[in-house]
Amino acid sequence: MTKMFDLTGKVAIVTGGNGGIGLGMAQGLAQAGAAVAVVGRNAAKNQAAVDGLKKLGGKAIAIEADVTDEAACRKLVADTVEALGRLDILVNNAGMNIRKQPQDYTLKEWQEVMRTNLDSAFMMSQAAYPHMKKAGGGKIICIGSMTTIFGAPFVAPYSASKGAIVQMARSMATAWAKDNIQVNAVLPGFIDTDLTKGARRDVPGLSDKVVARTPAGRWGVPPDLAGTAVYLASAASDF
Ligand code: NDP
Repeated sequence: MTKMFDLTGKVAIVTGGNGGIGLGMAQGLAQAGAAVAVVGRNAAKNQAAVDGLKKLGGKAIAIEADVTDEAACRKLVADTVEALGRLDILVNNAGMNIRKQPQDYTLKEWQEVMRTNLDSAFMMSQAAYPHMKKAGGGKIICIGSMTTIFGAPFVAPYSASKGAIVQMARSMATAWAKDNIQVNAVLPGFIDTDLTKGARRDVPGLSDKVVARTPAGRWGVPPDLAGTAVYLASAASDF
């Protein structure tokens, strides 16, 4: 049974793996035996995450990159394969939000959210595909949101990006199943991270509302996503 979730010898890239949900997922993957490349723009945060992952016993490397840049996406995938030998798992987790009423966004702000949350996942998946195909298969995990399904007054571009990323994942899943690449999307509930600290600051009463509407009666924490990542990165989810 445990073999089904074993990631020994596998190599993962986690975009936004230096904090929040990405770090929770990276820790799960490392605990299951994967070597992890942590991608983020903040070099100090990347290094701290890598130091922590190494303490879990795994190999880990830090890659300072902005995933809204296509050339950077291609380079970081190539650098990971060069440093760690292969690529089996990609977690498209990097994301951000700008909270405003729809009428108040500039086009630049709309595009910043879409580029960070959606375009990056497309570019990273494209860059990863030939390496996974070569390895005989792979796993791509995209991060949606409750706003994939529901709307809210302050998330027009965010919810658009999170709706789209799930449809992109479904399309890639059908295209790449023949290559033994499984593409899935996770739609987390409310998780306590830097992103949602900002939301609690901007949206009065949000914290209490989340607790009231969450059956578990609490905010999620990043380690809550570790098992989900291991399942979707392992042989347990091959079909
Ligand atoms: P955090 O703000 O804690 O983490 C965001 C991560 O993304 C950071 O590691 C950040 O690193 C990285 N990142 C952002 N922009 C870029 C960029 N341009 N290039 C490279 N890395 C980037 O957020 P969360 O952990 O909360 O969110 C992670 C994902 O989960 C996001 O996609 C988010 O939309 C989604 N999500 C979050 C939920 C929640 O309740 N927290 C619920 C549902 C979905 P750095 O700044 O160093 O670049």
